[in-house]
Formats: sequence, structure tokens, C-alpha cells
Amino acid sequence: MKNKTTNKNLGQAVIATENEHKLKEIGDILKDFHLEILSIKDVGLEGLEIIEDGKTFKENALIKAKAVMEKTGRLTIADDSGLEVDILDNQPGIHSARFAGENATDYENNKKLLKLLEGIPLHDRTARFVCVMVAVFPNGDIVVSRGECPGIISFEPKGESGFGYDPLFIVKECNKTFAEMGEEEKNKVSHRAVALEDLKEKLKTRLEIK
Ligand code: IMP
Repeated sequence: MKNKTTNKNLGQAVIATENEHKLKEIGDILKDFHLEILSIKDVGLEGLEIIEDGKTFKENALIKAKAVMEKTGRLTIADDSGLEVDILDNQPGIHSARFAGENATDYENNKKLLKLLEGIPLHDRTARFVCVMVAVFPNGDIVVSRGECPGIISFEPKGESGFGYDPLFIVKECNKTFAEMGEEEKNKVSHRAVALEDLKEKLKTRLEIK
């Protein structure tokens, strides 16, 4: 019930992800706050099944953050992200992880995307990565942030690093794919980085800074 409970345990924040990379990235951005960052493992919820049946990135991030906050009573941060391709009516969108089917590999998802874009010229292959971050406080208050990274889907995979659609996503302002960038360079321009900076600004008014 909103505002009935207090914001106790605000010295800690749970990051609702099993992805170590995201945990570190979010923890790094939040390091100026008086917060002890806890993983899903730290709060004993490893393997917790959450059905992400929202229709938007925001709904899915909220479902994750609320589920973990309700179990832990602590400030919880969750994200949801994916790729939107204009000419495919923003597909794969929230289905990015399982575009080519349940348990699809990155290779299969990329192959399906290239197949759907066969014959489409470069100027019509515009796309963006989207990331929505949600912080849910123990009293039910919600803070939402969003980040986008515009780009173009290439004709073939390029680069070795990263994951997911990285080898196909040419970052507009850099003219190379995410997979051709190092982690450090990607983290300066990525949808997640933009959403995290936005979240940090929004949390500044609510949390103490070191
Ligand atoms: P998640 O919800 O953040 O785990 O992302 C869902 C899916 O979106 C991933 O499985 C990837 O297919 C895709 N995705 C999200 N962010 C990225 C990225 O930075 N690079 C490549 N693919 C991504």
C-alpha cells in the first residue's frame, strides 16, 4: 500500500538481475550514493522465477523490481532492454531475447533479423536500443528512467565483443558496431548508460550523495 510503509533499509539497494555485468555497471553508476549494493544472490533470491508478461519495457522492469522489493523490503532497481527496428514496426522490442523462439541463441536471433531485412537498403535499416530502469522504494514510490541509443542494422555481423545484437548494430554517432567497440567505449554511449545517468539524476533528489 503506497506510503503506508516507511522507507526503511534505504542504506541498501538490490539490483534485480542475475547478470553480473549489469550488476557491476549499475553498482558503478550508483557508487556516489550512500548505498550498499546487493545482488539477487545476496538476498537469497537466486533463481527466483518472475513472469515478465508486460507489454512494454517499463511494465517488465516494474514487474521485476516490484517482485524483488516485495520479497526483500528494500529499494530495488531493475531494467528491461531490447532492440527496436523501425521498418519491422519496432520488432523485436520486448521479445529481443527470444526473437527466434524460446531459448534462441544470439546467433539465431541475429540470423532471423538479417533474414527479415533482406533487400532493405541501409537508409531504411534504422533502429535503436532501448533501456528502461525502474527503482521501487519500500513505501511503493517508483522512479523510472529511459535511455536510447540510435543506430542502423548492418548487412552482416561485424566485431567480436559484446552479446546479443551487438555485431549487427552500427552505432549512429560512431559508425561501427557495438561488437567492434570495447566494453569501455560501449558503456559511454549505450542505452543502458544513458538510462543509468538519467536514473542517477532522478535519485539525487531522494538519496544522500557521499
Ligand atoms: P535484457 O532484458 O536487458 O536482458 O535484454 C533482452 C535482450 O535484448 C537481450 O537478450 C539481447 O538480445 C537484447 N539486448 C539488450 N541490450 C543489448 C545490448 O547492449 N547489446 C545487444 N543486445 C542487447
